[in-house]
Amino acid sequence: MIQGKVGIVTGSTSGIGLAVARQLAGAGVGIVLNGFGDAAGIENLRASLAEEYGVPVLYSGADMSKPEEIVAMVEQAERELGSVDILVNNAGIQHVAPVDEFPMARWEQILSINLSSNFYTIRTALPGMKARGWGRIVNIASAHGLVASPFKSAYVAAKHGVVGLTRTVALEVAETDITCNAICPGYVKTPLVEGQIRDQAKAHGMSEDRVVREVILASQPNKRFVEAQAIGDIVLFLCSPAADAITGIALPVEGGWTAR
Ligand code: NAD
Repeated sequence: MIQGKVGIVTGSTSGIGLAVARQLAGAGVGIVLNGFGDAAGIENLRASLAEEYGVPVLYSGADMSKPEEIVAMVEQAERELGSVDILVNNAGIQHVAPVDEFPMARWEQILSINLSSNFYTIRTALPGMKARGWGRIVNIASAHGLVASPFKSAYVAAKHGVVGLTRTVALEVAETDITCNAICPGYVKTPLVEGQIRDQAKAHGMSEDRVVREVILASQPNKRFVEAQAIGDIVLFLCSPAADAITGIALPVEGGWTAR
């Protein structure tokens, strides 16, 4: 059903984005990979996805903190792959510090990568989706789009913003066959979280295992990491006909975190 369509997944050289890109490619979707990393490694990834799944795969190194590069990425996808039918806004970074010590430049960077980039991709891709009469926008927010934790002011503010943007876009296009939804994962073991585990272990003089149990998964009642592949499965579901009437939701995928 989505075979032959084209999807952009921002921040797809690693973690959740890579899992989502792989699953979309597996469903026959042409992919725009995006994100940072070693050039040879990214080219290997691009070529192997294209070969394994028999779909076109383009790489864009657009920096999600730079509006003009974001616009150029969407335009390049439309020009070279023919359309952007599925847009997964996933790129994101984290910084942990008390709000009165939070570096101002980090605040600006997190707001631009984690929130504003979603606005720029959507703003640029939406006219094409409207013209073709179909589109699926999935924003990877976070449980922190629904509830807060201390020391994550920029991240929590940005992710709450993503949920608000999702709902607004969903309402604006509700009468078309375009949906816009957010997924709100709890902790997924990716390089982003592995960095937090290392930092917390150092800060508290604790073993990494203890940090996982007592700090990282403290608010996740099922005490298990979410699998990146599960997020890919949910993106596929949201792109399927069964989800045609699902729009504007912020779907918690967090082992019960926000049920408290
Ligand atoms: P990750 O660090 O493994 O991957 C992040 C990706 O974003 C990488 O491909 C990186 O190159 C890319 N990226 C970073 N800055 C960029 C920029 N300026 N321009 C373009 N690409 C950039 O992280 P992840 O854990 O897979 O996180 C992906 C998304 O999921 C983020 O938005 C994150 O907030 C969200 N999320 C993660 C978790 C988790 O526990 N891992 C939980 C909830 C939400």
